[in-house]
Parts: sequence; structure tokens; C-alpha cells
Amino acid sequence: MGNIQAVEALWRARLDPLRPASSLSRREVAALAAGITGSIHDTLAREDGPEIRYVEELGADNPFDVYGKDGEPCPRCKTILTRVVQGGRATVFCPRCQRARRREK
Ligand SMILES: [Zn+2]
Repeated sequence: MGNIQAVEALWRARLDPLRPASSLSRREVAALAAGITGSIHDTLAREDGPEIRYVEELGADNPFDVYGKDGEPCPRCKTILTRVVQGGRATVFCPRCQRARRREK
């Protein structure tokens, strides 16, 4: 999955991007799956041409919820979005909506 969709899906699922996949509960995995399909669906629905345009080209018209929006308020809770580099890829997330939770069973 591309970085944009990963960032968007994690935000939708309210999951901390730094959490290892193996720590996710079944409920969280289901939320992530829903976040992935929702994010891809919305991205495709927004596209009016045959190719996906990049955020760099879109500039202020960035259509994503959080991707490329570090330093801006979270669309859900208005907390300022944070950027971390993980495995060479920049990840943007909301430190409030997506904070690490106690491990669920
Ligand atoms: Zn938030």
C-alpha cells in the first residue's frame, strides 16, 4: 500500500502509526481494514482524470485528511498534526486521536 493511503487509513482507524502490527487487536485490525477501503474509495471518488495527482502538484488543494498536513489541525479534534519519519517514510498523525492505547485482548 502506498504511503498516502497508509497515513490516511491509520488516521481513520485512530491507530498510532508506531505500533507494531502484531500488537493490534481483532477490533483494531477490522477498523484498519475499514480505514483502508474507505480511504481508497474516497481517493478514487475524488479523481476526475485517469491518473492520481500528487499532493505536491495539488498544493493548497490537498484533498487528504491528514497526509501532507503536519502542523495543521486534525480534522476530527483540532489537535495539531505531527510528522514522524519511520523507515524512511514520513508519517503524519494526530497525537490525540491516534495515541497508543493500552493493549486490548
Ligand atoms: Zn485528532
